[in-house]
Parts: sequence; structure tokens; C-alpha cells
Amino acid sequence: MNNTRLKKMSKNIYYTPPVEKTDRPILAAIVGKESVLIVDGGNSKKHAREFIDELNKMNLPEKRYLAITHWHWDHVFGIKEMNIPTFSHTETKKEIEKMLTLDWSDKALELRVKEGSEIEFCKEKIQEELKEPRILDLKTPDITYDCGVEIDLGTITCKIEHVGGEHSIDSSVIFSEEDKIIFIGDCLFVDIYHGEWSYSTKNLFPLIDKLLSYDADYYVESHVDRLISKEEMIKITNRLKEIGNLVDEIGLNKDEIINRLSSPINQEDIDNVDYFLAGLRKELQ
Ligand SMILES: [Zn+2]
Repeated sequence: MNNTRLKKMSKNIYYTPPVEKTDRPILAAIVGKESVLIVDGGNSKKHAREFIDELNKMNLPEKRYLAITHWHWDHVFGIKEMNIPTFSHTETKKEIEKMLTLDWSDKALELRVKEGSEIEFCKEKIQEELKEPRILDLKTPDITYDCGVEIDLGTITCKIEHVGGEHSIDSSVIFSEEDKIIFIGDCLFVDIYHGEWSYSTKNLFPLIDKLLSYDADYYVESHVDRLISKEEMIKITNRLKEIGNLVDEIGLNKDEIINRLSSPINQEDIDNVDYFLAGLRKELQ
């Protein structure tokens, strides 16, 4: 049990950290007395396999389930390799069904980037994780929900709930009530698939309120290798709200928005101003 490379996140949760180079997200296992819930399918067969191999080294219940945070490639390409009953939002399944029909060769990826249905960022990361010939063995989730589902793992209860938001409308969170840890996927990140990367107050603010309504002590973002305390999450989201409100009030005047922002101002704030401005421009189109 001790030779596993899995890291311990809390009393009942183990995980592997994200990998920026190939955009691997955190994969986690929430361990109950009867069964284990895995968070996200991984960005490749290899990613999923490595995680399962480490999990197999531990003396854990054999019954396993998988929950998917959203449809983006890095969270779903490993579903088939996991080979366990898989939960997702109905829209997540629909998007994976579309992905099943696609050609994933360099040539096809290049073409999709040109026509706008794929983005350069994902293309590069896919090429980094998966070398050609790139024949993918994708699988759709087995069990879908619209609002959410609760899973009893034996002494541990997990809530999987749809929260939607800017990054991907199908985004779901996985909340372990006992650990008071919530996996939020990429849901707080910008919209990357519709032109300029953007935020809109209309989509982001209700999501923030929803996320803060959970009785969680810590938040886990898929590509961030640390626990974010509730206090820090409140600080991060208050700043996002401050920026969003200023953009709504002032409009397309970046200098004025930055002038009115409470200090200190860092690069992340300036990026977020740009994202909200991009969102506003899209709305005005
Ligand atoms: Zn994503």
C-alpha cells in the first residue's frame, strides 16, 4: 500500500497532480468503505492506466465509479481505459458522442483549428500527450443526469452536481461531504472555445454564488496543484466580481477600469479585465 505514487489529499482522498506540459488534469479517488469514486477520466489511455495502476497498489474496495467534470478532451480521453460505470451530465455525453465521430490526426486537428471548431491550445497539448498515429478509443458515459446525483460510497457520500458556467456549460462539481472538499473541474476558468477567451458577468456570477454555497472547506481546480481554502476562494471570486462589475459599469475603457480597481493590482487582474472586456465585446456584436 505504501509504494503508491498517489498523493494524499485528505482522510479519504488520493490524487495525482496536474501536468502542465500535456495539460493533464488532477485525477482523484474518493474512498468509501464499500466503493471508490474516481474524479475525471484522464487525457489519454496512458494517463488513466497510470492512475489505475497506482490505485491497484492500494488495499481499497474493488467497486469503482467514475465522475466526469466536463467534456473537454483532457478529462475524457481515458474513460474507456478506466472501464468502470461512468457518470456525467447529459451534455457531456452529447459532446463525447460528437468527438467519437472525429478524426484526431495532426492533419484533421490542423483543419479544425483553421475552421474554428478546435483551438490551437488544445491541439498543441493533444499532440504533446498523444503522438501519431493517433487512433483514439473513446467511450461515452454510462449514466447521465441533468441536475445531479448522490453516490453513497459507504460512510462517504458524494454529490455530483451540474453547475454550468463560462468555461463549459456542462460543468459539474464533485463534493465529498465528509472531507468537505469539492472538485470544481475547470468551471471557474474562461470560455476558450468561442473566439477570444472571455468571461461574462451574466454566466460567471451565478456560478460563483453556487460554488460558494457549498459547505466546503477546500476547492480543487483540475489544473492547480493545491487546495484552495474557502477563504481564498471568497477572495478570488470577490476580485472577479469587482472586475466584472467595473466592466459592466464602465464599458470598453480598459485604462479607466484599471484605475478604479482597488490595489494592489497584479497581472492576473489585468488578464481578467481583458477576459471580461472580450466577453462584453461578444455581447455587443
Ligand atoms: Zn476544460
